[in-house]
Amino acid sequence: MKMSCNKNEKLNRREAMKLLGIGGTSLFLGAGSTASADTKLSAPSSKKEANILIAGAGTGGMLTVARLRRAAPNAKITLISPNSVHLYQSGQVYVAAGLYSEFDNKRKTSDLLPKNVNWMKDKITAFDPDDNTVQTEKNGKVSYDYLIVALGCEYDFSMIDGLEASDIGENGIASVYLNDLSEGTSKGAIISKMWMRSIQRSAGKKKVKVLFADPDTPIKGEGASLDMLFLCNDLLKGNGPKKGQDVQQNVHFSLARPEEKLFRIPKIDTVLKKEIASAKNIDTHFEYILTAVDTKKKVATFFHKGKSEEITYDYLHITPPMRSPQVLAQSKLAVKDVKMQGWMEVDPETLQHPKYKNVFGIGDILALKTGKSGGAVREQGIVIQDNVTAQMETIPLPMKYNGYSVVPFKTRYGRIILAESDKHGLAPTFPLDPTQARWIWWEIDLHLIRRAYFDLMMRGMM
Ligand SMILES: Cc1cc2nc3c(=O)[nH]c(=O)nc-3n(C[C@H](O)[C@H](O)[C@H](O)COP(=O)(O)OP(=O)(O)OC[C@H]3O[C@@H](n4cnc5c(N)ncnc54)[C@H](O)[C@@H]3O)c2cc1C
Repeated sequence: MKMSCNKNEKLNRREAMKLLGIGGTSLFLGAGSTASADTKLSAPSSKKEANILIAGAGTGGMLTVARLRRAAPNAKITLISPNSVHLYQSGQVYVAAGLYSEFDNKRKTSDLLPKNVNWMKDKITAFDPDDNTVQTEKNGKVSYDYLIVALGCEYDFSMIDGLEASDIGENGIASVYLNDLSEGTSKGAIISKMWMRSIQRSAGKKKVKVLFADPDTPIKGEGASLDMLFLCNDLLKGNGPKKGQDVQQNVHFSLARPEEKLFRIPKIDTVLKKEIASAKNIDTHFEYILTAVDTKKKVATFFHKGKSEEITYDYLHITPPMRSPQVLAQSKLAVKDVKMQGWMEVDPETLQHPKYKNVFGIGDILALKTGKSGGAVREQGIVIQDNVTAQMETIPLPMKYNGYSVVPFKTRYGRIILAESDKHGLAPTFPLDPTQARWIWWEIDLHLIRRAYFDLMMRGMM
């Protein structure tokens, strides 16, 4: 793809290359807007011979294994997770966009694991923090001195009447989110790629209605649905990986969301709404909660201001409702508060469970108000490393997570708005206007971040 530079952008290529050199890759993965990131070289360690258990081999679990293996050299480290394949989930949008293959996003779990870690290829079926044990499907009870929970989140299609995960890929329905982390598969990415091409073909012949529906639950990868909308629309203009015919005038998009905001930070929300308004062929339906889909008739039913409303479509993209894994939600580690019910309770700064001091959590599973992203997890990994080893040494926990998260909104092929935030609001790592869509963020995200993820972040080196 040809790279061009927006005239209004202050950044020239020389400066851009400097950015790449000084840490452009790390910012998508959490550059360290917190104090925690800056002190990583002086991170404490522990020589104690403790028994550490890490639950889940996704982003947070693998990163924690790598970091603690170095920081606690005498500890026995056990990882429990069923997946032989580790999936780089952020790459699913690029598969759908025709820029990555499915294979690009996968690595064998065993290839990422450091030496001297006991991997139980198993599933946790219950947590018993009073007994310092977990129950597993195949290995019975497993005990620990310290537990780090990194089980991520689950999709819950049952919240939408008439829709099941198996409907994705049938009758014009797609979801870029669809994956099975325990199997290491990401069918949603390929399905979404074919779905975009199918819309393009149909639009060459007739008018087409495309509906995007987002759920009323916390979600991971907050930008993915809008990415799909913007990239699909750009593809229809003929701007995809291969130059094509402009069939955009034949496609009408509807975006239905439970909230009025497209993103929780007002400045980013405003700029995303401008993108939508300038597209001319996108309608928004705010305060619409998807309740049912008639997959045969192609009708989606929403709850809107106390009433039921129907929207018909030719093509539907679903962001599935998400929840904490049931095994955690039903345990004593979950929050009881109604709003965050089922997600894991931790102190939002130390990431330690408030009651069970030998239990910590990382990643999407946490009951935090800030975003669920790989960038957030990377930042939390630094906090976990230092605070777990401090707990082992029975000294005060030194590190605080400040809610850092990052969403690379792909506004079209070749442009990204990089929304970095923390608990206070926008938190750009570099002194560049964060509301501007830039080619440089696209280039970094597309070409460098996946490699940095597998080669550095998964090895606990950033
Ligand atoms: C489509 C999409 C696009 C995204 N885009 C971005 C992006 O651009 N930037 C970004 O920063 N983030 C993005 N994300 C979000 C990012 O991938 C997640 O926030 C991150 O991977 C969360 O890591 P985690 O460790 O919490 O959970 P996960 O990586 O989801 O891992 C959970 C692990 O727990 C294991 N597990 C589950 N249940 C059990 C059990 N009972 N017993 C044992 N193990 C279990 C699973 O097998 C898995 O290994 C995106 C996500 C998606 C789906």
